[in-house]
Amino acid sequence: MELIKDGIRIDGRKKDELREIKIKAGVLKRADGSAYVEWGMNKVYAAVYGPRELYPRFLRRYDKAILQCRYNMASFSVEERKRPGPDRRSVEISKVTRSALEPVVLTENFPESVINVNIEIVQAEAGTRCAGITAASVALADAGIPMRDLLPACAAGKVGGEIVLDLCKEEDNFGESDLPIAMVPRTGGITLLQMDGLMTEEEIEEALNLAKKGCKIIYEKQKEALKQKYRGNNND
Ligand code: ADP
Repeated sequence: MELIKDGIRIDGRKKDELREIKIKAGVLKRADGSAYVEWGMNKVYAAVYGPRELYPRFLRRYDKAILQCRYNMASFSVEERKRPGPDRRSVEISKVTRSALEPVVLTENFPESVINVNIEIVQAEAGTRCAGITAASVALADAGIPMRDLLPACAAGKVGGEIVLDLCKEEDNFGESDLPIAMVPRTGGITLLQMDGLMTEEEIEEALNLAKKGCKIIYEKQKEALKQKYRGNNND
């Protein structure tokens, strides 16, 4: 399969082009904070509860709140029905989501508490961990939880010998490498960095820089989603 020809990718994008992204804050009335992200064909909800008292008590930290993250893929989110419930992949993504978000949340303000972050992948098309983290940080802000910054996440990788931004499903399946990151825009700090496949040191650096550019674009969309909500014109 030819994934890239004359600089144009299989889905018509240029190398440094993101898929279309829409972000909406405050979409679920029952949660303390929420967000919805449509990113290419990915459809992702994030819902936040808390901070609230943590039970069982022995899990409490006297110096900070704990962040509990749960990433879940709906059975109908992929082509072959996915067996419901946690699997190795969702446990791993829940864990990296927590460790990505923790540095941006002021957990020290809420000792002995828990903040719950639930991420539901309703439709998947590669890049769901980035879409989930992007949605979760907007949902945390929407819940009024104090944060150092929002946390956009985006991947870059190597496809058909070229470094490209934001891999789609075919590129993820048949490309050489995928490198998702989450970046704290204000400091440039990276709180998620994963990679699979093979790239040279130079290619990794190029992919990292491209993914950072993607994060900056997503950051603007996150801020806009929150402004939209507080301007009250969320169209619902
Ligand atoms: P990410 O979604 O963060 O890119 P992966 O690289 O693990 O994470 O997965 C890539 C894509 O593979 C997913 O976005 C999804 O489209 C697809 N996928 C993941 N798990 C399954 C599954 N159990 N069945 C079918 N497709 C899946």
